[in-house]
Amino acid sequence: MEISQRAQNISASPTLAIDAKAKQMIADGKKVINFGAGEPDFDTPEHIKKAAVEALKEGATKYTPVAGIPSLKKAIIEKFSMDNGLDYESDQIVVSCGAKHSLYNAFMILCQQGDEVLLPAPYWVSYLEQIKLAGATPVAIKTREENGFKVTPEELQQAITSKTRLIILNSPGNPTGAVYTRDELSALAEVLVKNNVYIISDEIYEKLVYDGQEHISIAALDTQVKDCTVVINGMSKSYSMTGWRIGYTAAPHNVARSMANLQSHSTSNPTSIAQAGARAAITGSQAPLENMLEQFAERRKYMVESLKSMPGISCNIPGGAFYVFPNIKDLIGKSFNDKTIQNASDFASLALDEIQVAMVPGIAFGENECFRLSYATSMNSIEEGLNRLRRLLDKLQ
Ligand SMILES: *Cc1c(COP(=O)(O)O)cnc(C)c1O
Repeated sequence: MEISQRAQNISASPTLAIDAKAKQMIADGKKVINFGAGEPDFDTPEHIKKAAVEALKEGATKYTPVAGIPSLKKAIIEKFSMDNGLDYESDQIVVSCGAKHSLYNAFMILCQQGDEVLLPAPYWVSYLEQIKLAGATPVAIKTREENGFKVTPEELQQAITSKTRLIILNSPGNPTGAVYTRDELSALAEVLVKNNVYIISDEIYEKLVYDGQEHISIAALDTQVKDCTVVINGMSKSYSMTGWRIGYTAAPHNVARSMANLQSHSTSNPTSIAQAGARAAITGSQAPLENMLEQFAERRKYMVESLKSMPGISCNIPGGAFYVFPNIKDLIGKSFNDKTIQNASDFASLALDEIQVAMVPGIAFGENECFRLSYATSMNSIEEGLNRLRRLLDKLQ
């Protein structure tokens, strides 16, 4: 069978090869330390599971409204109001099968052939593929490590052309952990509004910020910005609910209506009982989240300090999410057993082969000098993995 041009344009995830290899090594009995995780290592809190079980027992086993059950939408609206200072009406909220699905709906509704979509790099790789799927052209804006991997208003202005349709922003960001301040967002919003560029704001890591920083939703800056922004959020990262598949958007009425229409012909509603769990997550106790955040904060501190003390590695302190994104450019040209490091992918392969430490090379995010380590893994594993890394660095020539 011949597959469509659209399908031919999709690339397999570049992280897959290293992930498959790590899994094979584990199956072969090797003691791999895996820093590749893209999900919290905590279980879903008990009261959330209970709410889903109750919903199941009470017969919530049928189709729900396409864009979500009213009580969940109400909880989401209250969340936006309390956490972000944003007021939405019920028909502006669309609940989908994970934030990834929310993003897909948004790109499909907002862009078309010939449009350019701005993508600050390093970026989450699904953005790139979803933009291509929507027929638009991704335009990466390379951000700089010394700017905390945040795009500046000047860099943004330079990337805008007459074809620019929208920008995808992700704060707190994956893979860099970058968190934009209110002033930084204001400066970007000014450029975007002036040039009529729409915004998709992926705020999935909203709750995972450290050192007393504040998450700001760009949509909350003023109504002009709000009217050209689709906010994306979801349950996966804050509530350890990756398998439940619940994400949501808040958008101007016509955009929300179109996304719901699209969804009505693809997935219909997200799973009924998962929606009940999501409602409990938003309205119930936030203590499990606070506990998780405390542990992430401790691991992050240990990891950054340890990495910074390693020869040849530099590391920004990430403001949010659960990743660090260290740089290895000072190791380029060094070698181990005749294997020379030319980029971060070489370094990641070397780490996996020689010390059984799995990491995601930056090339997966459009950046080839850095690698991503997730601290969504136990402190014991972190200590062991970093010790191995230090020993490897000592042996490089
Ligand atoms: C994990 C992640 C998502 C998607 O999460 P879902 O599980 O689909 O809700 C979206 N954006 C970023 C940046 C992520 O890291």
